[in-house]
Amino acid sequence: MSKAEGDLALIGLAVMGQNLILNMNDHKFKIVAFNRTVSKVDQFLAKEAKGTNIIGAHSMEEMVSLLKKPRRVMLLVKAGQAVDDFIAKLVPLLEKGDIIIDGGNSEYRDTVRRCKELEAQGFLYVGSGVSGGEDGARYGPSLMPGGSPQAWHHIKDIFQSISAKVGTEPCCDWVGPQGAGHFVKMVHNGIEYGDMQLICEAYHVMKDALGMSQEEIAEVFEEWNKGELDSFLIEITRDILKFKNEDGTHLLEQIRDTAGQKGTGKWTAIAALEYGVPVTLIGEAVFARCLSALKDERVSASKQISGPSVTKYAGDKKALIKDLQQALYASKIVSYAQGFMLMREAAKDMGWDLNYGGIALMWRGGCIIRSVFLGNIKTAFDKNPKLSNLLLDDFFRSEIQKCQVTWRRVVCAAVQLGVPTPAFSTALAFFDGYRSERLPANLLQAQRDYFGAHTYELLSEPGKFIHTNWTGHG
Ligand code: NAP
Repeated sequence: MSKAEGDLALIGLAVMGQNLILNMNDHKFKIVAFNRTVSKVDQFLAKEAKGTNIIGAHSMEEMVSLLKKPRRVMLLVKAGQAVDDFIAKLVPLLEKGDIIIDGGNSEYRDTVRRCKELEAQGFLYVGSGVSGGEDGARYGPSLMPGGSPQAWHHIKDIFQSISAKVGTEPCCDWVGPQGAGHFVKMVHNGIEYGDMQLICEAYHVMKDALGMSQEEIAEVFEEWNKGELDSFLIEITRDILKFKNEDGTHLLEQIRDTAGQKGTGKWTAIAALEYGVPVTLIGEAVFARCLSALKDERVSASKQISGPSVTKYAGDKKALIKDLQQALYASKIVSYAQGFMLMREAAKDMGWDLNYGGIALMWRGGCIIRSVFLGNIKTAFDKNPKLSNLLLDDFFRSEIQKCQVTWRRVVCAAVQLGVPTPAFSTALAFFDGYRSERLPANLLQAQRDYFGAHTYELLSEPGKFIHTNWTGHG
């Protein structure tokens, strides 16, 4: 490549960066590759990038000199300090109007800060969610860019070309200013935690309460993948359940039952608490991972604390499996409703004008939570962009109503048989709370006023706060 012909420079040659570069190269963009450990540039060029138009840079100065203006530099490095360090090194090498893009899993408040700081210096900054893992990056990720709005038309072509498509529609659109892209990606990851937990609970009920074999459970997931639950996560669950070692044993049974986490689910739960939005299902999914991690404690407790005497379901097994499908569907509707509530509240607070139908489309393909269901969410927001809650959309309201009886049956059965189903249960509790005209918070107000003189409002006079001397002593 002659000088200054590069469309974009990408820093970070780990799994995500390498695959995104190869994807961009497939779409005829000229990409300059760089990495902190420079030897990895040559390794990449000699192996994965052999025979492509990708060019390696051995210093950041060289990298910048190979780019067209305005220069586009994308970071795919470890989130946190590494991003700040690279930005600090880039700034003296770039000119006003150049664009820095962070495609890592950065915390959205960091992106807000970086965006403000760089815009103040005349640069454009984009924080983009990238979902779909290694395969997505290589063949079509879901991309959620947000930041300096003027940057969008400079990166739109590259981003929409390499992203996943649903039909001809790219799973990538402009999300909003500052940290909006990373916020939406964070909620996506939280929803991913919730979806995974719901599937795990369904598996747990089938395994322990119904005593089903792995093959039988795999067939149920195979069936579910043909209906409203059709999704990537249900599909891979079926494959995982079917997977056998060379000796014919199932690998899944041999895997330790402790889940790790990188933090994006926790961030979603923290954001929910900060914004005061009851995103209970994602919260439970994060706590379920925490509980799973207490393996030694659980092993010890299991020998000392016993559960119910009956642990196997005595009713019609086939009927309960059908119920389970509906319970999973209804709980999933609640989880997405909660996720969109959180985005709405953050958008209000941050002054972002988010396009919720567009977000559903971005998640519809390419990413881990991709599903047919997201098409219905897009339809709901297309029909009414101002929809305040997914549960109030005609389609979802009617779907969840249809599942009510069966959903309650599953939660009751699980509770009676001692199988923990925190996500199913919290979704149902939220549903009952959300549809309640009156909750017991009147008593709560009175209690707070009793012990702390915090005052309360009367139903007849909202906005007027009064105090009562509840004990009658002065
Ligand atoms: P990663 O393991 O998160 O990071 C490795 C890259 O970061 C390497 O290029 C490494 O350079 C660089 N790096 C690490 N610490 C650094 C530091 N202190 N200063 C400068 N550079 C540093 O790589 P990844 O899995 O490809 O992920 C990249 C980003 O995408 C992350 O933010 C990740 O959370 C996000 N993401 C990952 C996935 C996934 O499936 N893996 C999916 C979506 C998003 P050296 O080679 O010199 O060590």
